[in-house]
Amino acid sequence: MTNIFPSNIARYNLKLANLADNVFKNTGQERQLQLKRYAEKFGFNYDELKTLYDKNVNFYQNTVKANNPNLTEKQLLSKQEEAFKRSVENVATQKTLESIVSQNEDKYFIWLPSSADEPRDSHQQYYGKKFKMTNPPDGIYPTQEYNCQCGMRIVDE
Ligand SMILES: [Zn+2]
Repeated sequence: MTNIFPSNIARYNLKLANLADNVFKNTGQERQLQLKRYAEKFGFNYDELKTLYDKNVNFYQNTVKANNPNLTEKQLLSKQEEAFKRSVENVATQKTLESIVSQNEDKYFIWLPSSADEPRDSHQQYYGKKFKMTNPPDGIYPTQEYNCQCGMRIVDE
């Protein structure tokens, strides 16, 4: 019996590598190398990571900047870094979840309550209930929905 919180695992692994630190401070070749190192370390596809990065830059340097003319460059950068970390954490969580599911396909899981301060109501109905790994309720696993921090206890039967 193991309690698993994919979002915590992902966050812990990313923390170890200080993901996203300095990505925005470097430029050109150095930044590309850094993104490549992260991608390699976490089994991300480089293009996938680059797409997340480009989306982030585009949104913050255009939309956010235009809507918040009083933000300093430093403040903007710090918001940008936070957002990039969150989106990378989300991808890392999905990858963690996928590997847990594929390694336990013959097992069951008990849905564990979220560790978030404000767990989403829609998941409370699943707390403590047991599901076949290959047949989660409504096709949804813990942490599959954005920001969900629910967990699973893997059981044999
Ligand atoms: Zn949840």
